[in-house]
Parts: sequence; structure tokens; C-alpha cells
Amino acid sequence: MRILLVEDDSMIGEALSVALKDSAYAVDWVKDGATASTALEHGEHQAVLLDLGLPKRDGLEVLRRLRLGGNTVPVIVITARDSVADRVQGLDFGADDYLVKPFDINELLARLRAVIRRQGGQAAPLLTNGKVSLDQATMEARCGDAAELLSAREFALLHALLLRPGAILTRAELEERIYGWNEEVESNAVDFLIHGVRKKLGASAIKNVRGAGWMVEKPV
Ligand code: CA
Repeated sequence: MRILLVEDDSMIGEALSVALKDSAYAVDWVKDGATASTALEHGEHQAVLLDLGLPKRDGLEVLRRLRLGGNTVPVIVITARDSVADRVQGLDFGADDYLVKPFDINELLARLRAVIRRQGGQAAPLLTNGKVSLDQATMEARCGDAAELLSAREFALLHALLLRPGAILTRAELEERIYGWNEEVESNAVDFLIHGVRKKLGASAIKNVRGAGWMVEKPV
């Protein structure tokens, strides 16, 4: 899961980056509205955390342009603007949720999971293909009798696969979902994570499609 964080306050941005990475998200952090709009043109993010008071382009304008362009990526506004009129305007401009600063990071993370679930057409917090299941709140994975806590990156990997059971994801596609722009990715990083998940859940949890990539099986 790759998140675009749009926040010009360096302390808040830093704290959010760390918390998001701890929760297995790949984070791309930009600090002004114009850069945010450019970043969003690529469509590589699964959700956006958007401050409103931003240099170069106000967050509401970023949101307005995003929706005018037909982009449906979930957006949670995070702002100090706390009047009812501001909230109504934010939601009417196309935000999926609106959190007023200061907020509890755990609440933000829960709301983020909720908007991402909804975007994927899922209301339940448990992601499963009938064989492997993943609890998005606790990062616990199950396969048969094995129940294990995954590391943040193992979680990100299995999450990406479980969102599309039966679809083969290439190494590049997995890397894009697990790592942010500024992160160095070792050439064998994905193999290492696959190995880690299989060790915990059993080799059959993830299928290797030789020369193509990896998948989890479609539900039967
Ligand atoms: Ca701001």
C-alpha cells in the first residue's frame, strides 16, 4: 500500500511518515500543493493524506483538481481548519474523510484502513482468499493452523497479493507497493520477504510463477 502524504509541517510530516511506515505503508511525502498534484497524476498511490494549508496550492484546490480529473483515490483531509463550514466544504470537494489536528495517530490509521478497504470493495477488516487470511488491524496472518505476526514489509507484500487473488504480481509491481520513492531496494528484497512469509505460513501460502512473479490462489 502506497500512501501520498501531503504536509508542509516538518514535525507532523516526520511523525506521520514514521507511524505509517511502522504500519507497513510505503510513504511518499511531498510538502506543497503543486508537487502533490504532479505526484497524483501518476496514479501510483492507494490513498492520500492531505493537509489544506499548503504552499503553492491550497489543499482544497489539489482535491478539486484531483476529482475533476476523475481520480477516485481515497483522500483523508488532515487539517487545523476545524469549523463545520470547513469540514462540509472538504467533504463536498471530494474528501472521503476529514480529521482535525491535533488527532490521535491510531485514529488516523484506523480511518485510513477503512477508506482503503472501501476502495477495494471490502467492508470486513479481514482480507482472505479462503486459504490465507490477513488481519489488517493487527498484521496477523493465518494459513491453516499457522497464525503468525508479520513484519511491516511482509504484511505489505501479502496484502498486495491478497487484494487480487489469482493475479500474478511481478517483482517491480510488488516493489512499487512495498517501498517509497526514497527507499533503496536491494535486488533480492522481494525474495527475502517471500521467504519470510512462507517460513511463517507454509510454502503453499504464496505461489511462485516461474519467470513471471508471485500470486495467492483464487478462492475456490
Ligand atoms: Ca499546513
